[in-house]
Amino acid sequence: MTDTNIQSLLSHFPSDAPLTPVINPTTGKRIFDLPQLSAQQVQAAVIKAREFAPTWAATPAKQRQAVLTRLHDLMMKNESKLLDVLQLETGKSRAHAFEEFAGAAGAARYYGRKAAKFLKPTPTTAGIPVLTRTWVEYQSLGVVGIITPWNYPMALTTLDVLPALAAGNAVVQKADSQTALTALFCRLLAIEAGLPAAAWTIVVGDGAEVGNAVTDNCDYVAFTGSTATGRKVAERAAARLAGFSLELGGKNPMLVLPSAKLDMAAELAIAGGFGSAGQLCVSIERIYVENFRKAEFLEILGTKVKSLIVGKSSVFSVDIGSLTSANQLARVSGFVQNAIEAGATLVAGGTPLPEHGPYFFAPTVLTDVAHDSPAGCNEIFGPVLVVFGYDTVEEAIALANDTEFGLNASVVGNEKEAIKVASRINAGSVNVNEGFRATFASMDSPMGGMKHSGKGRRNGRAGLIRFTDQRTVGIAATWLKLPSRGRHYNRMGPLLRLLSKILNRVG
Ligand code: NAD
Repeated sequence: MTDTNIQSLLSHFPSDAPLTPVINPTTGKRIFDLPQLSAQQVQAAVIKAREFAPTWAATPAKQRQAVLTRLHDLMMKNESKLLDVLQLETGKSRAHAFEEFAGAAGAARYYGRKAAKFLKPTPTTAGIPVLTRTWVEYQSLGVVGIITPWNYPMALTTLDVLPALAAGNAVVQKADSQTALTALFCRLLAIEAGLPAAAWTIVVGDGAEVGNAVTDNCDYVAFTGSTATGRKVAERAAARLAGFSLELGGKNPMLVLPSAKLDMAAELAIAGGFGSAGQLCVSIERIYVENFRKAEFLEILGTKVKSLIVGKSSVFSVDIGSLTSANQLARVSGFVQNAIEAGATLVAGGTPLPEHGPYFFAPTVLTDVAHDSPAGCNEIFGPVLVVFGYDTVEEAIALANDTEFGLNASVVGNEKEAIKVASRINAGSVNVNEGFRATFASMDSPMGGMKHSGKGRRNGRAGLIRFTDQRTVGIAATWLKLPSRGRHYNRMGPLLRLLSKILNRVG
């Protein structure tokens, strides 16, 4: 992306805002300076969006939906440029950028085909058959605030922004400063696809200042980020009785069942644990394998992990890219060092790789880690797999569920047996013989977390309907009046009792 293109994208922001440098993770060098908006500027953006919201809400749903279909095609046409921007800002490998791009385009395709259908009034079963009819209508909320993190800026933008727009809302998105270009580029393509520019505003700046201003001013907040920040957003939104959804962190387990082939399990652990260098909410971080096969598994996994190609490349030649920031490098190194000091055994990796760039970290496998230690129970959010042993499958299930999180899980082994185990894992998604992609790729399936991993769900019908208010409309027949005086119940009472008994039998 040329400087001119970058400056043209940045022209979306007020020109008088102070600037902060954005660093290329693979070189450590400044790419450009990003404006940092104030709370007042965010408030002004929400007011402007609110002025435009009724116009967009009055646009027929089919017409709004058609914008997404065209956006999908424009994304496909601009694949290479989108992948370049994504890699520039996140440092992820081309392969992982492609996976994210495919998910993002999938959101445009899915809601581009389904949104209008989801928004059609839904007939409901009437309370008083024959005499009344009811249905539900869906009304847009006004201005939806969407707060996105830096790790999956393209997918997380489209997964939330597109259904909010399709539902007839104006959107004010707070993009993370590290990855605002990706969001701006998606917005630009949406405008090219026919979206009125005023329908989607992007704001950037200090996380707390700009994030709070979004939470305090919008009619609904869809937040994706850490559990700690999500809790703050929930408290603020609740104080205003504004709706919210939270997509938060995880400490996602993989259960390697006795029936599992260890080679296959190790390969799945790599795909499931090292996507975007492990900086993925649904990434596998804990692996449970039978104690008597643990040494063999570690040998297989360790050998495979050591063979991974780490580095930077704009083609599909590298397995794993860089961490995204100095903070991330400090975080991941800290967890690994702390675990080793506490007695963990390092099976593979464990160190930064400065020969590739300032924030690269070797894909790492640890074992002999206490289950309740920081590396055992906190989200590391990096390329680190921690392997635990178990004696019985019951114990493995109990250990997998022994966490404050409940975002994603994986079960590897005989399919029938694995499905049974999957239904006992307390997580919003469970992948059988896969790490996360089987569920993550399904736009029709709800995605979200149990316990401290979130509230509400994105994707599917529910992922769009959350951005609406529901209005139930009921009509009473005029040919027979419902009772209005006490004496009418002499006549209607027996009829309604009889009806209640019949309905209880026949439904
Ligand atoms: P974060 O919570 O620090 O930041 C997320 C976003 O919130 C950023 O845009 C940030 O600027 C903003 N923010 C910061 N303070 C805020 C405040 N007080 N009010 C409102 N917004 C505020 O998280 P992060 O480090 O950027 O992202 C990594 C985390 O996100 C991990 O925990 C990861 O698991 C989680 N995540 C979850 C999902 C999911 O779908 N469940 C997806 C991706 C990432």
